[in-house]
Amino acid sequence: MKYLLVLAVVLFAFYIWRNNRQTDRSDAAAPKAPPGKPNPPAIMVACLECGTHLPDTDSVRGRQGAYCSIEHQRQHEGAAH
Ligand SMILES: [Zn+2]
Repeated sequence: MKYLLVLAVVLFAFYIWRNNRQTDRSDAAAPKAPPGKPNPPAIMVACLECGTHLPDTDSVRGRQGAYCSIEHQRQHEGAAH
């Protein structure tokens, strides 16, 4: 009878541990990108001056839009005024 109680406790602990692991895994899988794709698709923008496409994160933000470089931002916004 004593062993049955121990077995029940162990099974209960194992059951809880398994449930925790499954919730951890589902929580981790949902917000993060799948491991097969290290780089999420980058948002591409075109330079307003020369039309070069570049990732939004690498672009220079001007008042009218994105540029590939500060020089093109100056040229474009300078020419507009
Ligand atoms: Zn440019």
